[in-house]
Amino acid sequence: MFDNLSQKLDKAFKTLKGQGRITEINVATTAKEIRKALIDADVNYKVAKSVTDDIKEIALGREVLISVSPGQLLVKITHEELTKLMGGEKQEISLKGDPSVILIAGLQGSGKTTFSGKLAAYIKKQNRNVLLVACDVYRPAAIDQLKVLGEQVGVEVYTEPDNKKPVEISKNAIEYAKKNNKKVVIIDTAGRLAIDEQMMNEIAEVKKAIQPSETLFVVDSMTGQDAVNTAKAFNDRINFDGVVLTKLDGDTRGGAAISIRAVVEKPIKFISTGEKMDALDVFYPERMASRILG
Ligand code: GDP
Repeated sequence: MFDNLSQKLDKAFKTLKGQGRITEINVATTAKEIRKALIDADVNYKVAKSVTDDIKEIALGREVLISVSPGQLLVKITHEELTKLMGGEKQEISLKGDPSVILIAGLQGSGKTTFSGKLAAYIKKQNRNVLLVACDVYRPAAIDQLKVLGEQVGVEVYTEPDNKKPVEISKNAIEYAKKNNKKVVIIDTAGRLAIDEQMMNEIAEVKKAIQPSETLFVVDSMTGQDAVNTAKAFNDRINFDGVVLTKLDGDTRGGAAISIRAVVEKPIKFISTGEKMDALDVFYPERMASRILG
């Protein structure tokens, strides 16, 4: 699938081959092909249009060196622009406070609970004492799932199976953390299959009550354009700090990374690439640009 995208771009750039100069005519033709390819890679239409408009302008302003073809130059410019659009540098999570509190939000099935376990393992490796908190009051199975993951990664999981109030559970968990020398608290919240008012209210209330130093929004990269809409809805409501893009081991091209960043203007901080507890990577914009371009 990545080859497909790359082939398409190659085809587009071929229109320039053999021509030593970038002109308005040949760059416009190529930009159109790049735009199509980006849209095929799940990049939102508006974003793809704005990127290719930028690329056109930049390309026209650049001299083609003898050592590179106009096609190569356009690939390079496209790569640079995609990287810039995704924030340029990798972004760390903020671990402030004692304990630092990280709130995890997202739709059901996005990979929230799995990511919570992975993040706990990741932070534990930095020699910090972590506490996982199960705050899904609707699905007892989600609580059990987190317990299993906690056991796997050797991190304690705080639960209150009979309490149906997420705000209370999170506050109690933070108190428990203080008493038990836990330095980082990761709170896994309840998700729904679609965005609904009650879920949003609940997460907003939890966030207000506990004032986390980091709120991460988890989204399934395979959901394509929907990923952008979901990100926007969550961001409008809870103003998160960063995004976690999951299931990048699947056959998605990752264009959602560009659209989400452009639409909500929040950095992507982690990518999840599998069900195992070590399948977590810090997000590098440059690597993602290469992946999208194939
Ligand atoms: P939650 O409802 O948001 O808590 O989602 P879960 O963490 O339960 O994940 C939903 C399903 O997706 C589970 O079967 C996970 O094993 C799976 N999953 C989560 N993250 C990834 C990932 O990065 N790659 C793959 N292939 N599967 C994942």
